[in-house]
Amino acid sequence: MQRVFVLSPQKEPLSPCRPARARWLLTQRKAAVWRRYPFTIILQQPPSGTVVNPLRLKMDPGSKTTGMAVVNDATGDVVWAAELSHRGQQVKEALDSRRATRRSRRHRHTRYRQPRFNNRTRPQGWLPPSLASRVRNVMTWVERLRRYASIGAISFELVRFDLQLIEHPDITGIEYQQGTLAGWEVREYLLLKWNYRCAYCHQEATRWEVDHILPRSRGGTDRIKNLALSCHACNQEKGDRTAGEYGHPHVHAEAGKPLKDAAAVNSTRWALYERLRRMGMPVETGTGGRTKWNRTRRELPKAHWIDAACVGASTPASLTTRGVVPLVITARGRHSRQMRKVDTHGFPVGKAKGPSTVLGWHTGDMVRAVVTKGQPVGTYVGRVAIKTDGYFKIAGAFGRVEGVHARYCAPIHRDDGYSYADGKAAALAPHA
Ligand SMILES: [Zn+2]
Repeated sequence: MQRVFVLSPQKEPLSPCRPARARWLLTQRKAAVWRRYPFTIILQQPPSGTVVNPLRLKMDPGSKTTGMAVVNDATGDVVWAAELSHRGQQVKEALDSRRATRRSRRHRHTRYRQPRFNNRTRPQGWLPPSLASRVRNVMTWVERLRRYASIGAISFELVRFDLQLIEHPDITGIEYQQGTLAGWEVREYLLLKWNYRCAYCHQEATRWEVDHILPRSRGGTDRIKNLALSCHACNQEKGDRTAGEYGHPHVHAEAGKPLKDAAAVNSTRWALYERLRRMGMPVETGTGGRTKWNRTRRELPKAHWIDAACVGASTPASLTTRGVVPLVITARGRHSRQMRKVDTHGFPVGKAKGPSTVLGWHTGDMVRAVVTKGQPVGTYVGRVAIKTDGYFKIAGAFGRVEGVHARYCAPIHRDDGYSYADGKAAALAPHA
């Protein structure tokens, strides 16, 4: 069950509690809401003699979505889970449009910012802005969660497969077999190596099989050089022929080529690893193969947060995921740095950017507006978009509404660069 984070009156993290207990503490006025997302309460009185168990934060960083799970290793409970959507593509588009606008301005010999020629060196460990934003999103959430839960260790998926295990099956004594850890590592390797395409018909398949190029019946080994990714149909058709006899002699040479390092190493994940290690906490790394192996052995469905909970060798033998509703977090960015909007030809239109705060409100604040007079009478809960005249837009689960004055708005959650979606936290709070 998704738990509620609990802070002591000194704002130190305590063990998370069940929603029912949080509700009781809140109605008895023994605790107050500290933060809406993630839902965190703060006790009014220090607890007596409680032991805080260390939790493990587990992550599966992806290019679009990062799964996160807080797991109690001792009990196997998934205490809290979230799925964080990144905005890499938006960052890229914003930078592309800025570059195009500047270029067209220079070309037209109108007023423009001088090109800068001394800003072309890149510091060591530089990442493209779209990737850097991903790394920062994850680090922000690691730091936040450390404030609300007693995180003692971190696990995250660093690489897709364990090359050591794959390349030396003889040394480690693990034979390739479907369903074993080595088997899953091999599958991950082959998927990447053959680029999710059948080695014979070059089609994407729904059901992948591992094909022995020289069949096992004729003395073919389980060495990675003898394995190819195949669809079910081709594997059946090939039977006990070699790839050459089947009419695909190039597969022999292809399988012998090692997978390029670049394909296996993900710069974002390595940058993240460096940063996590610098935090001085034990960091366990896992492989994509092991994540899938852990998940299938525990018969869990596929989801980003479940993958996160299955990362690494430390995964408890049984994971309790029942009742866990992941918090859906979307990175939004905080401001636009563009001072003035431009039309399709790059000419400035409208007025210069207004103030970022109007009557104490900021675009992105979550509010509850009860409008009693005027045009949009009703109750609206959602994210606010400010306007200088004080009449705001609100967008939420109900849709969107315009022209709601600031005086009707009450804060739920101040803008922190992310938007959130879940039903549970809002229902928990007594006054929402
Ligand atoms: Zn095929």
